[in-house]
Amino acid sequence: MAYKVPDLPYPYDALEPHISEETMRLHHDKHHQAYVDKANSALAGSEWEDVRPKEILTRLAELPDDLRETVRNNAGGQYNHCMFWRSMSPDGGGQPEGKLSRAIKDTFDSFARFKETLTEAGLSVFGSGWAWLVFDGKRVFIVTTTNQDNPVSDGLTPLLGLDVWEHAYYLTYENRRPDYIEAFFNVIDWDVVAERFAEAPRPDVSDILDRTVSISGAQKRYGDISYDDARTQAAELKALTGWGPMAKVGTVARAWTALSVTLERHGAATVTDLEPSEVAQMAEELWIVPPSRSMV
Ligand code: MN
Repeated sequence: MAYKVPDLPYPYDALEPHISEETMRLHHDKHHQAYVDKANSALAGSEWEDVRPKEILTRLAELPDDLRETVRNNAGGQYNHCMFWRSMSPDGGGQPEGKLSRAIKDTFDSFARFKETLTEAGLSVFGSGWAWLVFDGKRVFIVTTTNQDNPVSDGLTPLLGLDVWEHAYYLTYENRRPDYIEAFFNVIDWDVVAERFAEAPRPDVSDILDRTVSISGAQKRYGDISYDDARTQAAELKALTGWGPMAKVGTVARAWTALSVTLERHGAATVTDLEPSEVAQMAEELWIVPPSRSMV
């Protein structure tokens, strides 16, 4: 099954004035088409012909030596650009909401700082390449790649790719890459990026969620713990502070208070609604699982 260039999900001029119609026609119809043509001609007749680009990019080491570079560049070109067109919308711009917004704030403190960091990353690419917002199953962060490499080859989930090849902006912005990046922020479709984030692989923490803890004498599943439960546990542990055998209880009480704050901040009814990475990390601090390091 040969690769194809998908139609744009909006008209060529839909991203004006941020990305010009002329740029979109050249970028989509000529540059993207060239990657597809070269990928198809390299893969034709090989056992890799029916393997999707994303999978190929995760198995580059298995490709025959005489195919590897051509396929890496052109299957990469196909995968990256398919993502890129769908990452933009005439109704785009603004900021993400919900879980993605929280993940960005957890890493970058603010959306403004995220924007600065992605911009700096895009400007730092020497020559041709991409800047990416990626997710590793625990946190979001930014990486850059050269040529048409994709972070999926490094085991990361790409959420948003910024194409900083000159062909993406030169017709309008000439050598002014910063102006192009600024304009790109006006067309980012955060709904699509949030969908990628929601679907990204995450660590399995089900065994941790099923552990039980005694709260006011009743056994409760960690995954079912609510704001009120966490406050109760914090108060009861705090009352024990200073009792010799429970020397570390103050630290654990503070962790339960922190859990209540986290649940409230995220609008989460129970621990199950939190991000798996957070669930796993907090489990140690709450002594749901034995801590792997000293809690003193
Ligand atoms: Mn491109």
